[in-house]
Amino acid sequence: MDKQNVFGFTLNSLSDSLKDFPKFRAKQIYHWLYVHYENDFEKMENLPKNLREFLKENFISNAVEIAKKEQSSDGSVKYLFKTADNLTYEAVFLKMKEDKFTLCLSSQVGCKVGCSFCLTAKGGFVRNLNAGEMVYQVFAIKKDQNIPSNKAVNIVYMGMGEPLDNLENVTKCIQILSELDGLSISRRRQTISTSGIAPKIKKLGALDLGVQLAISLHAVDDELRTKLMPINKAYNIQNIIDEVVAFPIDSRKRVMFEYLMIDGINDSLECAKKLVALLNKIKAKVNLIYFNPHEGSLYKRPSKEKVEAFREYLLKKGLLCTIRESKGLDISAACGQLREKEIANA
Ligand code: SAH
Ligand code: SF4
Repeated sequence: MDKQNVFGFTLNSLSDSLKDFPKFRAKQIYHWLYVHYENDFEKMENLPKNLREFLKENFISNAVEIAKKEQSSDGSVKYLFKTADNLTYEAVFLKMKEDKFTLCLSSQVGCKVGCSFCLTAKGGFVRNLNAGEMVYQVFAIKKDQNIPSNKAVNIVYMGMGEPLDNLENVTKCIQILSELDGLSISRRRQTISTSGIAPKIKKLGALDLGVQLAISLHAVDDELRTKLMPINKAYNIQNIIDEVVAFPIDSRKRVMFEYLMIDGINDSLECAKKLVALLNKIKAKVNLIYFNPHEGSLYKRPSKEKVEAFREYLLKKGLLCTIRESKGLDISAACGQLREKEIANA
């Protein structure tokens, strides 16, 4: 049997895989991986030699490697990871205000959804990431950035891919990240961003994982949304709103609506007005994102004035709204952009 990626195991499944070794050994392994950031089995010195041998024979802890790293002037760092089968995917380490850290994770290599503004969509869909490949992003970044194990970080599934198209592995990743004996990242600190696959939002809700939900809305009428995001033909704006209303959300939290601001396309005050009407009955917050241009992209980034006027309008109407800082713009931190650069240079 092939060796298995040790990062893809929940605590229970790891202890079940240790056969006759006592259960508490799994906790010790978790501790080495996620508290000491040590993934060399040989260095896990409080494990008996026969267990270390067993681990080396049955598990692999370096299935993924960091292939490239780019530092941005604002402190964010973009990582390119390489899988055992030579595919690349990326994650971004974002330094937010007041010493808060957010890790933006990929869930797939490529994406099936095919949004017209997104670079990840350009290369088509390659494959799902498995849970171990997803968890590794957190392990590697926390280790590389020397983030103390007890320092809380936020996780957003906003890198490459559509997380709800890979729900089984994403669910497992959420479980592993939230293990108290491991990374201990509470589910409330994990946000799934989706292009709006309505039946899968329902499914995610039924799983009741306690994660936060973000919807990539980007347009307030179906005609434009279908142009930007062809998936809107299958699940239109109203379908999405209906699922959001039914979604179990922590009473202290709000559903985030991401709204990409594209110059001259969806950034008018008329759009802002429709957005207010659309989100009228929802505990929502809006996150405005500057479109990040890339080579060959059809769209342009709007002016700061336009984005701020849009925000002002929403605030005036009582809708919470933030503008996503253009973090990492100088390292092209929008999804898919580092990978694309690497492929172009190959
Ligand atoms: N597939 C999921 C999650 C990954 S995309 C989704 O679509 O929600 C994460 C976010 O990056 C989405 O809101 C997406 O619209 C945004 N994005 C994609 N291309 C972008 C670009 N060129 N500039 C700015 N944001 C972009
Ligand atoms: Fe896929 Fe999200 Fe990019 Fe759309 S924006 S193609 S859903 S990764």
